Amino acid sequence: MTAPTYEKLTAPSQGSRVTVDAKGNWRFPDDPVVVLIRGDGIGRDVSAVPGITTCAVQVLDAAVKKAYGGKKRIVWFDAHAGDVARELYNPGVRDEQVSTLSEDDQRQLYLPDDTLKAFEYYRVGLKGPLTTPIGGGFRSINVYLRFRFDLYGCVRPVRYFKGVEAPNTRANKVDMVIFRENTEDVYCGIEFKSGSDKAKKVVAFLRELGYGPDLVLDSAGIGIKPISPERSKRLVRMAIKYALDKKCPSMTLVHKGNIMKFTEGAFKDWGYELAKAEFRDKVVTEDELTREHGGKMPAGKLLIKDRIADSMFQQIQLRPDEYSVIATPNLNGDYLSDAVAALTGGIGLAAGANIGDQSAMFEATHGTAPKYTGQNKANPGAVLLSGALLLEFLQWFEAAELVNKGVEKTFAESEEIARKGPGQTLHVTYDIARQFPGYSEKDGASSAGFAERIVHHINAAK
Ligand code: NAP
Repeated sequence: MTAPTYEKLTAPSQGSRVTVDAKGNWRFPDDPVVVLIRGDGIGRDVSAVPGITTCAVQVLDAAVKKAYGGKKRIVWFDAHAGDVARELYNPGVRDEQVSTLSEDDQRQLYLPDDTLKAFEYYRVGLKGPLTTPIGGGFRSINVYLRFRFDLYGCVRPVRYFKGVEAPNTRANKVDMVIFRENTEDVYCGIEFKSGSDKAKKVVAFLRELGYGPDLVLDSAGIGIKPISPERSKRLVRMAIKYALDKKCPSMTLVHKGNIMKFTEGAFKDWGYELAKAEFRDKVVTEDELTREHGGKMPAGKLLIKDRIADSMFQQIQLRPDEYSVIATPNLNGDYLSDAVAALTGGIGLAAGANIGDQSAMFEATHGTAPKYTGQNKANPGAVLLSGALLLEFLQWFEAAELVNKGVEKTFAESEEIARKGPGQTLHVTYDIARQFPGYSEKDGASSAGFAERIVHHINAAK
């Protein structure tokens, strides 16, 4: 693939591309170029005031430097999306004009071709939060990126950090990674409005298939839920590979197959099928565990189990330590990943990634929190932890560990400081600081101050 030319971007003069070889294996150089979309609101820098993405990048660079002493480094390539892109590429377009533009022109406004070309070529990106576009035709930058680059696995690690107030008393047992299928299910947007011609046609077709008005009223709006073996299996494969690489104890298929047998139920069946076909000597199913191993897990194997979605929402609260890696269709995954994140507190800590076979985008899952723009106040933790996932993806595990440990230490020490009583100096941002008795938002460190403290712990690591 030849290097693209850009309208407004200047490609980095240093650094190398991440590539994928003919067998589909990722190839990571020691100086990968990573596309950086700093984002809108709290993501962007305002004059000299750093946004959360800049703060996160400083920590990531420090961790890589500490881990590899200059032998490895990320070359960041700034590209743009969201309001920031609109201001840079099309400053003359007024809000009231947006809805008159074609869907593709709206996409260009918020996600310029330059950015798409850069991401296609360099394959890996880190993204801050983006404002949801106004207008209506082009609805979501994130969804567009997922479909355009077939980023089929939405990966959401959730773990507890000591020092962060959590609503559940078992939160300290939460350490899960949720793999949500990103490209199928009701998210395909195949919906027919009640009373529309298309809805009437679909209802007529259902009548032909024998479904009467006792089940489907003539007036019903209809949504379609496609779930295929190919796309289910590739997601489960990604989850199992991850679980094996990280030596996780189990991988759970979460589904609503008792009701939706040929979509959610099939997802579960295809998941087991894939596990047995491709990982036979490395996995044990829950059935086999009872039948063949007397309930005792053989050493070094990964347990494959499944849970019905509604029961899973109880399980994550009551027995979170029994779940490690989770693979699930799109809608379940959407609900479940936010529910698990909520258990551990702190939206400012919810990291994520959207990963495909050819590209991967790492991103915080929270929004732009516009009221805090330019205040150096918001928590950079979620972007930073998404960056740690990026480091793991590059196989730079030592650097990722330094980031995770640095965050851990910064939270834990502030909890200890706060326990001495009010009036002490904390190193965590407002959202965490206000959780300590006797402390309020005002006692929080700045975004940059929090990042600096993490860097301090990284540099002090043995
Ligand atoms: P939001 O930006 O996530 O903010 C909601 C609240 O969550 C904030 O007011 C703040 O609560 C807390 N929060 C979020 N991020 C934080 C951080 N880093 N540090 C500390 N607290 C944080 O949700 P929203 O206000 O509904 O959405 C704003 C815009 O973001 C919308 O345009 C939305 O569409 C977009 N959005 C983008 C993404 C994405 O790009 N991935 C995701 C979601 C929403 P307190 O004020 O209580 O402290």
